[in-house]
Amino acid sequence: MRILAAMATAALLALTGCQRGPAVHEYSFFAFGTLVELTVVGANPETAEAARAHAAARLDQWHHDWHAWQPGPLTRLNAALGAGETVPVPEALQPILSEARRLSLQSGGLFNPAIGKLVALWGFHADEVPSGPPPEPTAVRELVAQDPNMADLVLEDGRARSNKPALQLDLGAFAKGSALQSLSAELADMGLEHFLLNAGGDLVALGTRGERPWRIGIRDPVGTGVLAELVVDDGEAVFTSGDYERYFEWEGKRYHHIIDPRTGYPARGLRSVTVITRDAALGDAAATALFVAGPEDWPNVARALNVSEVLAVETSGEILVTPSMNQRVQFVGEPGPHVQVIEP
Ligand code: ADP
Ligand code: MG
Repeated sequence: MRILAAMATAALLALTGCQRGPAVHEYSFFAFGTLVELTVVGANPETAEAARAHAAARLDQWHHDWHAWQPGPLTRLNAALGAGETVPVPEALQPILSEARRLSLQSGGLFNPAIGKLVALWGFHADEVPSGPPPEPTAVRELVAQDPNMADLVLEDGRARSNKPALQLDLGAFAKGSALQSLSAELADMGLEHFLLNAGGDLVALGTRGERPWRIGIRDPVGTGVLAELVVDDGEAVFTSGDYERYFEWEGKRYHHIIDPRTGYPARGLRSVTVITRDAALGDAAATALFVAGPEDWPNVARALNVSEVLAVETSGEILVTPSMNQRVQFVGEPGPHVQVIEP
């Protein structure tokens, strides 16, 4: 969990305790390998229940449709592309694939959903975190040499083909963001004005939490505490990619699940990247891309993706923030971490 729900929960308890406060309904689901929590504020019980049922059905469906290794539309498409076929893109994959392709190219290929074979080689196509060992360097090199990337995925007239046998689609870095973006729009269409959708720390907020704004904590990637607090405005998304959730250790080294497509190895240099955007799908892609870009290059990738609010934590512990993020975060703890402001 990258962003602690604890503060929101504590505040909500206070709200529910208050007789004159708006009604608060809390629901949780399991999707994309994580707990997804929906907090609805100020809706009548029927609307809240309709939102719960809708969220449950949609999350289940997307979890199935976009899964990288459990049999479904994406694994079938991968099999067809791998066999060199030109096939209709299943409806369930149409918007997400073209959006993923566009953002991948915009990120200079650092967010690269075509590297499913590398992710599988590292053992991350499994519910449980793998225990190692890391793959053979020659196997990694062979896949990197084939350079699978989203430019090789040709999407035309509702059909898809791949120019490279090594291309295998993995939407793991994008599914949560796409789902939260679509679901929040659909809940708003159902008449909900105030809610928080929190998928294991990646979140979207609508409206406010009663009389106060939605306020969240960004997890310290080192340890378990809160690094900073932040008010999330109406319609904003906060997404984090980090090295501390899915990883294994082998001979004293940490190998995590975010792979640098240029090397085939887990990206180096940063512990976490948090971005604030007005589009959750962009936020998910951007957090991954900036994490892969590393301590020197992330400002360039942020510029390419038009993301201006970024907080990055280096493996050294150094904290880097953009000016607009610096204005919004309140660091927790005394005397506070050393923070460097970086122009994107
Ligand atoms: P999280 O899933 O923890 O939110 P990310 O959004 O960064 O973190 O997604 C990481 C997942 O995305 C990996 O488990 C893998 O499936 C996939 N992936 C790994 N490296 C990349 C990459 N460079 N580009 C796109 N997807 C990636
Ligand atoms: Mg991501």
